[in-house]
Amino acid sequence: MPAIRIARWKNDARAAVSLYYDDGTDSAFEMVVPSLLRRRIPGTFFLCCGWFEGDKAPKLARWSLCREHPEIVLGNHTWSHCGVQGPEDLADQLARNAEGLRAVTGLPPRALVAFGIPGGVPWKVTPVEQDACFAAAGVVLRHVFPPENAGGPPGLHKDVRMHTAADAVAALDRAEASGDREALLFHGVGGDWIAFPAAEHERLLAEIDRRRAEGRLWPDAEIALHKYETERDAARLSPRPAPEGALAAAELSFGTDPAVYDEPLTLVAAVPDGRDSVVLEVAGAAPRRVPAVDGRAVFDLAPAASLSFLLR
Ligand SMILES: [Zn+2]
Repeated sequence: MPAIRIARWKNDARAAVSLYYDDGTDSAFEMVVPSLLRRRIPGTFFLCCGWFEGDKAPKLARWSLCREHPEIVLGNHTWSHCGVQGPEDLADQLARNAEGLRAVTGLPPRALVAFGIPGGVPWKVTPVEQDACFAAAGVVLRHVFPPENAGGPPGLHKDVRMHTAADAVAALDRAEASGDREALLFHGVGGDWIAFPAAEHERLLAEIDRRRAEGRLWPDAEIALHKYETERDAARLSPRPAPEGALAAAELSFGTDPAVYDEPLTLVAAVPDGRDSVVLEVAGAAPRRVPAVDGRAVFDLAPAASLSFLLR
């Protein structure tokens, strides 16, 4: 019977990466958004809606292009970027910003949203208080990363050490070597503050695109990576007796709520030599043909409480 496993990352990539753009800068909107859309690479833009009140409201409203473009994902960065003086303050900052973001994205209140702690401001909450506030607000603290993954000009901040595409690609190399995930942080790109050079950013996107095409890297929005990791770690794959003529059968139980954790999981099945495809039959759905490459069939299954499937 061929072995089936849940892939560590989407499409059985070796590693994953998410791109963060903090503060909703003009350069992020004007330069980064078109570049990401051109290459279909997702990015997460962490916005403080309180920065866009009054005559700046159109600069927030334009981010509603995220409704048509799944590559553009908004994250919560507190309402005002002023820091927090305690748990009540944090709850208020999260809730006000979440409401502002929902008006832009149109997402339902239960949709999970990634959160980035604003830098350079007081943050007077304990980890326990913080976790309780995040859970209540439906936000997910983004991946913590080293200064080597923060982009900007040399010499500006000691915690900004990614100055060129090569510096950023070193993080991709680390991710591939460890089989883990990385996050890369930007503020301005080619303008605004802590600006990373636009040409270097383009080179980085080209390299991400290339590694994705080679099946090495899965670049996606922060919340997609979070959902995938959570589902992957909670799911259970149980082999079942394969009926006559089938290669394998199995049941996949998701340990997560499919209404919230809705990221498809990738499965990988070993396929006998000489087969160039298999047919996947999921209970309740039309059969679909999956190509087999190098003795391996890779396919996605959308979350459900539990589903059984077989391969022919
Ligand atoms: Zn910020």
